[in-house]
Amino acid sequence: MKTLLKYSIGIGDRFGREGPAQLEALQFAERDGVTISPVWNKSFREHSIIGTTPADTRSAADAAVHDRGWKHPYFVDADHISLKTVDLFLSSSDFYTLDVADFISKPADARSIDAFVRLAGKFTGRLDIPGLRAPLNVSEDDVRKVATKYLLAVQEAGKVYRHIEATKGAGSFITEVSTDEATQSQTPAELFFILAAIAAEGIPVQTIAPKFTGKFLKGIDYVGSVDAFAREFEDDVCVIAHAVGIFQLPANLKLSVHSGSDKFSLYPSIHRIICEHGVGLHLKTAGTTWLEELIGLAMSGGRGIATAQAIYSDAYKRIDELCKPYESVIEIDRRRLPEPTTVNGWNKEEFVAALRHDQSNPKYNIHFRQLLHLSYKLAAEMGDDFLHLLERSSDFVGKNVTENLYQRHIKPLFLGS
Ligand SMILES: [Zn+2]
Repeated sequence: MKTLLKYSIGIGDRFGREGPAQLEALQFAERDGVTISPVWNKSFREHSIIGTTPADTRSAADAAVHDRGWKHPYFVDADHISLKTVDLFLSSSDFYTLDVADFISKPADARSIDAFVRLAGKFTGRLDIPGLRAPLNVSEDDVRKVATKYLLAVQEAGKVYRHIEATKGAGSFITEVSTDEATQSQTPAELFFILAAIAAEGIPVQTIAPKFTGKFLKGIDYVGSVDAFAREFEDDVCVIAHAVGIFQLPANLKLSVHSGSDKFSLYPSIHRIICEHGVGLHLKTAGTTWLEELIGLAMSGGRGIATAQAIYSDAYKRIDELCKPYESVIEIDRRRLPEPTTVNGWNKEEFVAALRHDQSNPKYNIHFRQLLHLSYKLAAEMGDDFLHLLERSSDFVGKNVTENLYQRHIKPLFLGS
């Protein structure tokens, strides 16, 4: 049976070029004593925007693993798939993120809701979960509410899971269930009953991605109360440990944090909690690798920075189109975006200062960064010209990709430094 290591990280990049540089960061971690499984993740949304296929991701991953001599398990994630999009990923992926957020709040049929309420009835009243600050107090009505909100979504996850299993065979792939793109966050109590439903549906879930409190915007730091997040995250960890035992879910089931890139203010709390509880973690980060490519291009000067500036000018004009697929996960204040003429006058240091996620730099601009985060489509439109340029600047780009992943992500999160 395929199992995920205790620690895993969703990597990958828009154009399938940075695998070796990302693996190098994981090899630094290994040298420091922590082995982290890489999982190449690329969603249907990204593939359709760029015009790539899951087979491209698989070959990029295999090539990078070969190139760097990576000896540990690695995976290719069909990220955020549904019954509509899963078929495209069946031959290339061995990790499936079943995204059922669209089915949340759509009630299942009354018979299955009744059946679930009966099944979960034994957990009503006072529910002591080891590690939780206070016991949960759950009424039958609460269970019915959770069922009404989430049962159809879990049933849908079951359908997608069985569809994959029928083709690939049980145990030959990792299953994640994600509800992170829902409109409301899930409480630890809701998570408990969602896990009960997942177990009843027979899904061998190894990672679960709830929507946490606060905002997880693309490529920038967490927006919200770090303390509230840490409390909820720790409660979720306790709920999972308890649920694994009573619902016989896979023993390595762990939390998956989506849009995990650059949530720097959360990393110290997450590190402390996973160490104290001795549990694993999956962190999805991939999108900001593209920003490191842009930084590398800008640093290479000449045509590199000219191209980065041209992408920004184009993005500024096409902002509505670029924001549309990402509406729920970005917050760009258009008044704070620099004019393209200003950006075209910047030297490479100024461009990098505005883009690089360094909150101590007064020139850093989160609106500029978010808009460029969405702009990989424009680079894709440049076709081979862009890819050749990346290759020509690969020294600058690779160094930034490795350093970003190792220094800013892996170290604080998995090594606690
Ligand atoms: Zn997600």
